[in-house]
Amino acid sequence: MDTDTPPYQWSRALWADRVDARFLDGLRDAVREHVLPFADEIDRDDVYPTRAIKAFARLGYTSLTLPEEWGGQGASYTKCAAVFEEASYASAAVGISLITILQAQTMILHFAPESLKQYVLPKFAQGLITSYALTEANHGSDIRSLDTKAARTENGWRLNGRKSFITSSAAAEAYIILAETPVGVSVFYVEHGMPGVSTEEGANASTFGLRNGPHMDLILENVEIPFDHMIGTEGKGVRQAVTTLDYSRTVAGAISIGIARAAFDGAMHFAARRRAFDTTVLQFQGIQWYLADLMTEIDAARLLVYEACRALDAHEDIARFSSEAKLLASRVATRTAEQAVQICGAYGVTMNAPFGRYLRDAKAYEIAGGSSEILKNTIAKHLLRFMSAQQEANHA
Ligand SMILES: Cc1cc2nc3c(=O)[nH]c(=O)nc-3n(C[C@H](O)[C@H](O)[C@H](O)COP(=O)(O)OP(=O)(O)OC[C@H]3O[C@@H](n4cnc5c(N)ncnc54)[C@H](O)[C@@H]3O)c2cc1C
Repeated sequence: MDTDTPPYQWSRALWADRVDARFLDGLRDAVREHVLPFADEIDRDDVYPTRAIKAFARLGYTSLTLPEEWGGQGASYTKCAAVFEEASYASAAVGISLITILQAQTMILHFAPESLKQYVLPKFAQGLITSYALTEANHGSDIRSLDTKAARTENGWRLNGRKSFITSSAAAEAYIILAETPVGVSVFYVEHGMPGVSTEEGANASTFGLRNGPHMDLILENVEIPFDHMIGTEGKGVRQAVTTLDYSRTVAGAISIGIARAAFDGAMHFAARRRAFDTTVLQFQGIQWYLADLMTEIDAARLLVYEACRALDAHEDIARFSSEAKLLASRVATRTAEQAVQICGAYGVTMNAPFGRYLRDAKAYEIAGGSSEILKNTIAKHLLRFMSAQQEANHA
């Protein structure tokens, strides 16, 4: 995509700023310099966007919400969402590279012992790349039991197992891992250079969307780690993972909004220039109605994502809003990308146009980071809890 021509240039005027103008100015400059020119290449070659992520780290964007005492900026999740939205407008692969860093930070910040916080958290401001490894070949949505095992030793823990489908694993320097102990699923911190840790490009490593390098298998063979590399409470790993996902899903919605905006802007830009029947495609009412529907849906999803971020910043319960935000935004992104192809006709289908990438990325994000069905289960659970509380109150 050309960096100095529309739609990125005028996109900001169409979609209202959700954070302060100066922050957005700097952020958009960074996206224009470090992400936009490389987006197609990252997707085509399926490579981890190391240069973009390291540049974002130098600018403070990868440690934005970390408290200053840990080398972060102490900024709001609203600003964090703006980073994800703008980066993903150019490249959703960069967006998901940022999210696996945020997931590791969140888990460590909220649950790790002080010694591990001191050891790891300051590294994020220096550009530490991390993965969040829950999934295994036999355990995807359901992670209540796992084949990866952790056994207590004299000096700490010994890990054995294999994790699959791990985003950012092509470049990760450290991993947050879920493994089962005799008490239940627990969370561990493991580094790439540790003896017994390796990655392998399994048969399913290459995905059609969200291509930030192959989603490698992570292999753990008698990996010895100290006691303080267990994060949080033994047996409470699923609860901790869900809390972490509540945080990351809130801003994950912004990744889908970035994709949707890029697809919408690109389609409108094309329709305004493409001529048919003595006018432009944009002048056909049928096409205007497509765009009107899409803009309404993107606005609604975007409002929900930023409302979820506001709730997160206000330390409110976000289980409902974070799931709603990712569910709606990912659905809207897929619909927008699909309609953008239609509006652009044959050009929309070409490999030269970015719409195929938008569609592939948008669809993949209806599964990664919590599938739409699991998000609906979470929202429904919230509803059921609410009704049973109402019934209890009525009986009291
Ligand atoms: C691009 C990409 C990146 C990923 N990155 C990571 C990563 O970094 N770390 C990681 O750990 N994992 C990662 N994953 C794996 C991802 O988290 C899982 O794919 C996801 O949790 C779904 O698991 P599954 O694919 O095994 O589907 P399954 O659990 O086998 O489910 C199959 C289908 O059934 C539905 N389903 C399952 N349970 C229920 C239920 N109770 N009610 C209704 N429907 C249900 C699912 O939604 C899905 O549609 C990634 C996946 C993709 C596609």
